[in-house]
Amino acid sequence: MARIVAGIGSSHVPSIGRAFDLGKQQDPAWKPLFDGYLPVKDWLENEIRADAVVFVYNDHGSDFGLDRCPTFALGTADTYPLADEGFGQRPLPAVKGDPALSWHLANALIADEFDLTVCQEMAVDHGLLVPLPLLWSYQPDWSIKVVPLVVNVIQHPLPTARRCLRLGHALRRAIESYPADMRVAVVGTGGMSHQLHGERFGHLNEAFDQRWLDLIESDPETLAAMTHQEIMDAAGAEAVELIMWLIMRGAMAPKVRRLHRNYYAPMTSGMGLITFVDAADPA
Ligand code: FE
Repeated sequence: MARIVAGIGSSHVPSIGRAFDLGKQQDPAWKPLFDGYLPVKDWLENEIRADAVVFVYNDHGSDFGLDRCPTFALGTADTYPLADEGFGQRPLPAVKGDPALSWHLANALIADEFDLTVCQEMAVDHGLLVPLPLLWSYQPDWSIKVVPLVVNVIQHPLPTARRCLRLGHALRRAIESYPADMRVAVVGTGGMSHQLHGERFGHLNEAFDQRWLDLIESDPETLAAMTHQEIMDAAGAEAVELIMWLIMRGAMAPKVRRLHRNYYAPMTSGMGLITFVDAADPA
């Protein structure tokens, strides 16, 4: 049977992708961010050795327009082309899918009353493409197969934080009912504190972000009880993306062990990274 071997929470700030492509990993402004990912990538590739990852992120108008905006959407493709977000296509291979796992998850989640939009074609944007090469190798090709799970955090009405946590619970049941002997990681992306428009442009709340990192580990129920308004008031409008981390956390056991944690807030966005395994898993 398949099992969940790691959970990862990560920001997906688009400027990270640009800095990565320009080779700024040693630039003093970026080093504290990129250095946080190095031990995580090493751990994922050499210890966790997942066969596939369910990658929770949001599309930013790259593939889904505001005219058709699914609350939750799951990709079932063999490959996912890279969306061009205005800088040209990034120098990365097309993302490799796992159609068999995707279709199992689609069937299992919909039978479990989470009515996802099932997408047989989907272009992926920075929500997925910023963290993916920081976590897994892509040369000569990706070392991991990806099941993209897209959440609407762009256009209200959004799913509640609690709905996201419950989707994570259902995702765990769905993964654990997959008959293949497979190791599956779950990544939740988004946020952290940032607001990129209006009078509060550049609003950052480091204390909120650090508390989020504490509670996503120890007390996700408290985070699930937060309203969108509470998150946006405290941490900026776009910080509401953080609800996607709760899908990852819901997929992990109630008690987890944290292995890595990094936080860097140089300019207009809090950038966080955290990794978990189930507390009952061998060290
Ligand atoms: Fe985003």
